[in-house]
Amino acid sequence: MSLPKELEKILEITREQNIWRRTQTLNLIASENVMSPLAESVYMSDFMSRYAEGKPYKRYYQGTKYVDEVETFTMELMNEITESKECDLRPISGTIANAAVFRVLAEAGEKALIAPVQAGAHVSHTKFGTLGALGIQHIELPFDIENINVDVDKSIKMIEQVKPKFVVLGGSLYLFPHPAKELAPHVHSVGAKLVYDAAHVYGLIVGKVWSNPLKEGADVMTVSTHKTFPGPQGGAIFSNNEELFKQVSRTIFPWFVSNHHLHRLPATAVTAIEMKYFGEAYANQILKNAKALAEALAERGFKVIGENLGYTKSHQIAVDVREFGGGNKVAKILEDANIIVNKNLLPYDKPDAVSDPSGLRIGVQEMTRYGMKEDDMEDIAELFKKVLIDKKDVNEVKKEVIEFRRNFLDVKYTFEDIRDLDKYSTKTLKLLI
Ligand SMILES: *Cc1c(COP(=O)(O)O)cnc(C)c1O
Repeated sequence: MSLPKELEKILEITREQNIWRRTQTLNLIASENVMSPLAESVYMSDFMSRYAEGKPYKRYYQGTKYVDEVETFTMELMNEITESKECDLRPISGTIANAAVFRVLAEAGEKALIAPVQAGAHVSHTKFGTLGALGIQHIELPFDIENINVDVDKSIKMIEQVKPKFVVLGGSLYLFPHPAKELAPHVHSVGAKLVYDAAHVYGLIVGKVWSNPLKEGADVMTVSTHKTFPGPQGGAIFSNNEELFKQVSRTIFPWFVSNHHLHRLPATAVTAIEMKYFGEAYANQILKNAKALAEALAERGFKVIGENLGYTKSHQIAVDVREFGGGNKVAKILEDANIIVNKNLLPYDKPDAVSDPSGLRIGVQEMTRYGMKEDDMEDIAELFKKVLIDKKDVNEVKKEVIEFRRNFLDVKYTFEDIRDLDKYSTKTLKLLI
């Protein structure tokens, strides 16, 4: 039988996606990344079809001996690179990790203080997201617009006054580290817990270019495993507080996950090993690239925010593009030129401007992983200028983008001399038996 139309269609869509985003676009979404070929090989393994509810060696199903082994070993690796005592890899996303933690720390009706939306809080921290679904009240910490950050003095007063159950720091537009060390003693003095959401910056923490919140007084850290940490999509929870960790860990299953998508485990382990050996070089290059891109854009006349603060200390930069028609319009024009970014609220935007905010958020982590250096950031800035300032034909710029991207097709910061990758995936199984 020849291929049915439906099948041809889905195969073709997948092929187009792979060609487009893997070889032809500048991927500058701050929450995305690319796994190494080795991590992808082990991701495409039999683990993807299996169930293992519960914890290693205490499962509700049979057939899990290798799952137990891989899960235990991956947790050990993750604790090693995170310098933490406890790790749980079962949350299937950062949002689920937050849900489990928040649920343990407060009952419905109780209060949580969160970083303000202007300081980049994630929707899961708010009444519109996970916190709201759990019925926990959110109150925003005061914001300091000069420093594009949480206002420390005012926050201390608010913590003492409100006496919340917990305080959440960390954000999605996250240029400068939130003041965990400064606030932790005050959070603890009212009997509350400090949650640090490191979804975006976990790879920077492992790469030692961002302070480790667990060493700064955070009681628990939630992460995504696919943003600056370049693993499979997923979440994780870390803590050094065994009592608290036990409670959280009991909550994940059965409240927030049943099965935990087991093929993530070997792929997360491979990524952890890559980060152990190459993480510092990768993270240092991310910071250099982010700064270089901010400076190169500013030199060409773009309004990059945070100039007085050196633009950024993370993998991200934010650009005010109101003069070019606002974030919504500009992000679409850039996409036509194969430059992929997202529109974003800037600290001075009203929260309800989400569908047409003033800014763009740009992340350099993925292109760094493809080997880009500071000089290449100049080229990217020039491409932005051609589209938005020179108003060159987007199709022409798109051709230049495709040409430029051709030089960056291989994932770096990984083990290059592993030749027979298919051996580790299900692809060539029949040849192996
Ligand atoms: C991305 C993000 C999350 C959620 O992560 P998912 O893995 O997409 O569920 C949580 N918190 C912050 C601050 C984020 O930026």
